[in-house]
Amino acid sequence: MSFDGALPADQALSVKFWGTRGSLPRCGAEYQRYGGNTTCVEVRVGRRLFLIDAGSGIADAGKSMMDDGPQGFDILLSHLHHDHISGLPFFIPALKTRCEIRLHCGNLDGVSPQAAFDLMFAPPLFPVRLEVFPGQFSYHGFHAGAALDFGDGIVVRTCALDHPGGATAYRFDHKGRSLCYISDVEHRPGIIDDALVSFCRDADLVVYDTMFNEAEFQDCRGWGHSTWGAGVALCRAANAKRLGATHHHMRHTDDMLDGVAAQVEAALPGSFVAREGQTIRLEARVLETAA
Ligand SMILES: [Zn+2]
Ligand SMILES: [Zn+2]
Repeated sequence: MSFDGALPADQALSVKFWGTRGSLPRCGAEYQRYGGNTTCVEVRVGRRLFLIDAGSGIADAGKSMMDDGPQGFDILLSHLHHDHISGLPFFIPALKTRCEIRLHCGNLDGVSPQAAFDLMFAPPLFPVRLEVFPGQFSYHGFHAGAALDFGDGIVVRTCALDHPGGATAYRFDHKGRSLCYISDVEHRPGIIDDALVSFCRDADLVVYDTMFNEAEFQDCRGWGHSTWGAGVALCRAANAKRLGATHHHMRHTDDMLDGVAAQVEAALPGSFVAREGQTIRLEARVLETAA
């Protein structure tokens, strides 16, 4: 896989949240501050850009990348549930002839996700197929747990997650900084997952599925989601610095999420509840020296 972006040089590792909601997009006054679009985040690793998931938030992400974005996009899918893929046909860079959109999926035992997309985006479920777009879509299956080599020294680590049908976590390391994206996942109460602890070891930021409060979690065991308390416990066990809470419940209003934000900040200072449009930059700790 080769670098085909045209982004300005930047040594930081950064994440921008284009969609923070789980399950279903929401609109309405009580969802404005944290956002109503379903999950999509942009990760920049130096000059290289990745998108994780293609929920409804990817529509605005695409709009921002239309003019000065790269010609090729790697979209790393956590899994294929609707809230993580339904925005894909609305990613407008796909209207450009030279655009390549590479979809990577790790929860299908290495099988390509193409069959699922062919089913989802075709009549009678959708008016057109993805082949009608001028841009080219390609499909890449891998086994969750594999390390993905994107060239230019960029290796993205992955980890299998406990979720109905499976899901994949991603970890980015760049110039002394590290970022993990862990969604969707269900934790086991009182048990810390050793594989996830080592996956998150010493990370600067762990973006984590905090969809349920404790009562909702008890009522929805087996639905595949977690709580902010479990996210903080994971960060502490792994010596990770900050938690970014995301995949917000479709009925959790801004006021409710303000309450979560205060609790996560108190439990693990620097932690936050992700808002649509928010960017977190992790400045390089290891600066490049002139050759
Ligand atoms: Zn989800
Ligand atoms: Zn899911």
